[in-house]
Amino acid sequence: MCGIYQLYRLLQLDADVLVLEAHEDVGGTWWKNRYPGCRFDSESYTYGYSFSDELLQEWDWSEHFAAQPETLRYLNHVVDKFDLRKHMQFDSRVETATFDAATGGWHLRLDDGRELTCHYLLTAIGLLSAPTMPHFEGMDDFQGRAFHTYDWPDDPVELAGQRVAVIGTGATAVQLIGAIAEEVGELYVFQRRANWCAPLHNRPIPPDEMARLKASYDDIFAACDRTPGGFIHGPDRRKFDEVAPHDRRAFWEELYASPGFAVWLGNFREVLMDEDANAEFSAFVADKIRGRVDDPETAELLIPQDHGFGVQRVPMETGYYEAYNREHVHLVSLRDRSIERITPTGVRLVDPDGNSEDFAVDVIVYATGFDAITGAFDRIDFVGEDGQHLGDKWQYGPSTYLGVQTAGFPNLIMLAGPQGASVSTNFPRAIEHAVDWATELIEFMTTNGHQRVEVTAEAEVEWTAHIKELYEMLLLRNAKSWFTGYNSNVEGHDIKRYLIYNGGAPRYRKLVAEIAADEYRGFRFA
Ligand SMILES: Cc1cc2nc3c(=O)[nH]c(=O)nc-3n(C[C@H](O)[C@H](O)[C@H](O)COP(=O)(O)OP(=O)(O)OC[C@H]3O[C@@H](n4cnc5c(N)ncnc54)[C@H](O)[C@@H]3O)c2cc1C
Repeated sequence: MCGIYQLYRLLQLDADVLVLEAHEDVGGTWWKNRYPGCRFDSESYTYGYSFSDELLQEWDWSEHFAAQPETLRYLNHVVDKFDLRKHMQFDSRVETATFDAATGGWHLRLDDGRELTCHYLLTAIGLLSAPTMPHFEGMDDFQGRAFHTYDWPDDPVELAGQRVAVIGTGATAVQLIGAIAEEVGELYVFQRRANWCAPLHNRPIPPDEMARLKASYDDIFAACDRTPGGFIHGPDRRKFDEVAPHDRRAFWEELYASPGFAVWLGNFREVLMDEDANAEFSAFVADKIRGRVDDPETAELLIPQDHGFGVQRVPMETGYYEAYNREHVHLVSLRDRSIERITPTGVRLVDPDGNSEDFAVDVIVYATGFDAITGAFDRIDFVGEDGQHLGDKWQYGPSTYLGVQTAGFPNLIMLAGPQGASVSTNFPRAIEHAVDWATELIEFMTTNGHQRVEVTAEAEVEWTAHIKELYEMLLLRNAKSWFTGYNSNVEGHDIKRYLIYNGGAPRYRKLVAEIAADEYRGFRFA
């Protein structure tokens, strides 16, 4: 999504530009995640690129929340329409990127040994592009099929009548479980911590509705521009305490019945900022779960105990809770037990007293998510001006200026980098803005004869401190989630890290426009 648009913009500047892509083809997120149920949480028509009217008018979305194959078709359509493929090299994974002080550019080494040089290095490497596997003993000995959702195999995975284990209950698992519950023979869902999920309410877009949407794209994108998250859903302006409990409840009923992230992002602001408001809304959603899951014990296990609604990313679901009403779908809680190992025939649990239980399965799906936001950066050895490795600099968390650059790494420009606005929003909206801003920066440099851009250490310290302050305003500061950089499957990521800008996209856009107008305050050119 990001690399495609950046390529398009740089070609408009007549730049000599090449996209290096590790995968075999275009699509990034939408090339890889092919598991059943994979689809948008963003309304399709708010997710597509906004830069070309012609593109907007010629593309029809079939559903309000399109599934992965459609999005992949869309991205291929964009690439072909603007003839971008010839500027892309696939199967080209960058392993090291070293700044060369003599030329002021970057020297890249790829996984196949090729070496390239470039002047500017722009990263469009994704925030959810580095999958993480758990570390159980015996994983290699399993005799059935086992894979991460990100690596869902191309050859058809036979699920009908099969015994399937799903490990994890994050956003991906929630989509997957709703999609396969009916078909499988037995489904064992291994849950360590429950998540607050909410109904997606997807539906098809008939041609007349698509025509109306096409006619209102200006309004749709303007609405996205006004909201903190770049979605069409913005927070309710009323104060929580000024709305009577009875009216709050009626409003919440309406939100729960609404499509997409309305229930999360269209709620009262206080729900994400104030413990009491959050507790009240969490209790409302807990009752919804109880109402949808027949077995009271299972329902209680599906209600999170360790965090309130919305302080972690809310998985959107279609029939997720109802899946547990099927006799062959079993929620296996890891609250009091843990996975001891993977055996050749399945999954073995053990309790604190040493009692074990085996679950025999044919397929194991690891729905264990991503090393979010910094994972793709950690997988490239970036070496900056004084031989400093980015991995060392960011060992305890990233530090950047605006999420665009990090000190000591000149001419390295991060497009959807940590601590920018693109990592906490409806991505394409923020990505288009980040790409436009970076393109203007390069244009500014070319016009002014500058060869080198870097950020000052002071600007970086100030921005990183600001990022931390913004976390303190929101309840998400306490959550163990990728918003706080937590991932127990990655060594060193069991600490809080400050990865996202929580000030909202409109504020971010205003700020970076002012900085650009002020001769790029905080940046140093040469
Ligand atoms: C299942 C799923 C559902 C999602 N749903 C939504 C949604 O509804 N709405 C939303 O806004 N966002 C969603 N996202 C987030 C999604 O990642 C972004 O919307 C968007 O795809 C980001 O685009 P990108 O180009 O920045 O990153 P990506 O799509 O991740 O692309 C990054 C590319 O960089 C390549 N790359 C990485 N490292 C290297 C390297 N070292 N060398 C060469 N190439 C490299 C990768 O192979 C990949 O192709 C979802 C993510 C997932 C995983």
